[in-house]
Amino acid sequence: MSGRLAIGIDIGGTKVAGGVVDTGGNITHRARRETPHRSKSPSVVEDTIVDVVDELMHIVGSKTVAAVGIGAAGFVAADRATVVFAPHLSWRHEPLQETLQKRVAVPISVDNDANAAVWAEWKFGAAQGETHVMMITLGTGIGGGILVNGQVQRGRFGIAGEFGHMQVVPGGHRCECGNRGCWEQYASGNALVREARSLLSADSPIASDLFDRVEGQTGNLTGPLITQAARDGDPTARELLAEIGSWLGVGIANLAAAFDPGMFVIGGGVSAAGDLLLEPAREAFKRRLTGRGYRPEARIVAALLGNDAGLIGAADLARCTADPQVD
Ligand SMILES: [Zn+2]
Repeated sequence: MSGRLAIGIDIGGTKVAGGVVDTGGNITHRARRETPHRSKSPSVVEDTIVDVVDELMHIVGSKTVAAVGIGAAGFVAADRATVVFAPHLSWRHEPLQETLQKRVAVPISVDNDANAAVWAEWKFGAAQGETHVMMITLGTGIGGGILVNGQVQRGRFGIAGEFGHMQVVPGGHRCECGNRGCWEQYASGNALVREARSLLSADSPIASDLFDRVEGQTGNLTGPLITQAARDGDPTARELLAEIGSWLGVGIANLAAAFDPGMFVIGGGVSAAGDLLLEPAREAFKRRLTGRGYRPEARIVAALLGNDAGLIGAADLARCTADPQVD
């Protein structure tokens, strides 16, 4: 009989965060490492993952752990073993599961971080009881996950849910994906900071509060700083967040036209702005929704699990995959 705990691993650009997760979705222990020398080489990142897993196994005892789940920002193939492409790491068709499985004694599975997050929010967070859920994570870019009737929808090749690269403005801002006018160029943390910087660079008097907060150093502007200014009542910061929120609502209306979910869960760092972001999103959504007035409207809600959603979801998905009898 294997254990009931699971280890979740969240891989970021420069750090590996891990946690032991119980069957109620609670994180009981944590471990974290910076990736040495900020290296992006597959073997260094893999060594760091094994290190974190070993540390957590040592704390709780390896016999109590049923599975290890890895959540990675990137394209994970439908086999949930291979990272096809990760924009912030040098993984290209990396057989991550196979490599790690040689060094870890319990079953490992790999998932896209937003897929892990939608699972966690559905099972333990904001979307409990909802049958058709779409998760939108607003970080530097936009990640997405789709869950229908208790199943994460990964697509034929595993890459479903990359909503950030839907085109919303033909000929718009250039995106690192190579196209122009992608949604994440208008409704993400990067978009928020870009717009605020352009106001500062234009020496606009309406940006004086933000200007003071960064002591005139445009490069010091960050999403959390703008959110704090908005919370403190700065009208310009509020306007910037409202603009991002509006664009969020435009994309959500497009997603509703295609998928007709019951709920959109908004997570990621930018969602910390709460209703300063979500109210403008709801308004824009209502204005843009196809068939508005003649159809039920999906709810747009804030995620509940914060930065832990990916880690909790990766762990729980891995545990449910390793031991499908449970749940
Ligand atoms: Zn793009």
